[in-house]
Amino acid sequence: MNVQEIRKDFPILEETVNGHPLVYLDSAATSQKPRQVIEVLQKYYEHDNSNVHRGVHTLGSRATEAYELAREKVARFIRAKSAEQVVFTRGTTESLNMVAYGYARQQLKEGDEIVLTPSEHHSNLIPWQQVARTTGAVLKYIPLQPDGTLAMEDVKTAITPATKLVAMAHVSNVLGTIHPVREIAALAHEVGAIMVVDGAQSVPHMPVDVQDLGCDFLAFSGHKMCGPTGVGVLYGKRELLDVMEPTYFGGEMIDIVELHSATWKDTPYKFEGGTPIIAGAIGLGAAVDYLSSIGMEEIRSHDQKLVAYALERLSDMPGLSIYGPKSGVNRGGLVTFNLDGVHPHDVSTVLDAEGIAIRAGHHCAQPLMRWLNVGSTARASFYLYNTESDIDALFHGLQSAKEFFQHAIG
Ligand code: PLP
Repeated sequence: MNVQEIRKDFPILEETVNGHPLVYLDSAATSQKPRQVIEVLQKYYEHDNSNVHRGVHTLGSRATEAYELAREKVARFIRAKSAEQVVFTRGTTESLNMVAYGYARQQLKEGDEIVLTPSEHHSNLIPWQQVARTTGAVLKYIPLQPDGTLAMEDVKTAITPATKLVAMAHVSNVLGTIHPVREIAALAHEVGAIMVVDGAQSVPHMPVDVQDLGCDFLAFSGHKMCGPTGVGVLYGKRELLDVMEPTYFGGEMIDIVELHSATWKDTPYKFEGGTPIIAGAIGLGAAVDYLSSIGMEEIRSHDQKLVAYALERLSDMPGLSIYGPKSGVNRGGLVTFNLDGVHPHDVSTVLDAEGIAIRAGHHCAQPLMRWLNVGSTARASFYLYNTESDIDALFHGLQSAKEFFQHAIG
């Protein structure tokens, strides 16, 4: 993998920010977009733009073909058995809400258990709270080990015959922990429960094979994997998608409409009411082509090298606390930290003055912040276009931040 060549694909990396070359370390929030994706979007709007599945004119056919081809590309990317198991959504949040609304709210009843971890992103937490509120189901949490990993004995204790649904992130967006979702899915299936995987931080960064993982639903976002904003995916096992209710009702998702009733199309169209996310899906198809041309194994090992380097460089810095596993081996490409006595927003502001973009805040994981006993943290996250020199820039930026605030505090 030639990172210097890859960097040339990303026009935004030529930007200067506050007089410094941009060092973009916020890909877990959203990734940058390569020229190959931007050009496909531009070509679509310049040459093929039309609504899909409706008109019989030439542009309509071209747009429909491109949209359905994108579905096939995504299906191949995650090794789904068929393209019909890929539903285009607005992103991970919408995908998870659709499962909660259309599947869990219909299928779960009072006393059924939903098993989660305390490190979930709010979008894989609040939908299940809502399911519990409306059905009487109970939320159960697998405790975290001190480094944020899960102990299999705790997973086994949490999953019982009352468990109907297990939901967790494949990779934590704060701690970088990679959860053993294949093993956990097998335990869920032993008691007849389904496994919902939040793949927002895994699908962009590592090979993900839904058949190998055995997950029942997988949710992810296009914008974190070099694709446009506004598009994401819900993958589901066919038999579950068939019983799942649509969330949105209206044009295109119907079969026959009477004055007092209506019937739906088959999966996946019954879930894509209204004009779908046509350009977004086509852009995501281009992103999948781009990532595949580099290779997900290569991207994963690049992430691993960067995170190991970042842990090595940052762990010796006095006053810097790093959260999550201390080794880069079984960890996603991000490092979350705090600098003693300095608010993460201030850290981020000082870094921004040097052109370095990181994320600061609660990362949509307030219960996890409470577990870490902090209000917020800083996070640097890496992707295929980052280099060790970006991490060196972060290291020097953090040193400047430390000196600046030591002087300011006196
Ligand atoms: N889950 C995880 C682990 C995430 O990191 C994110 C985004 O940061 C989401 C869910 C939500 O993704 P989106 O905002 O694209 O719906």
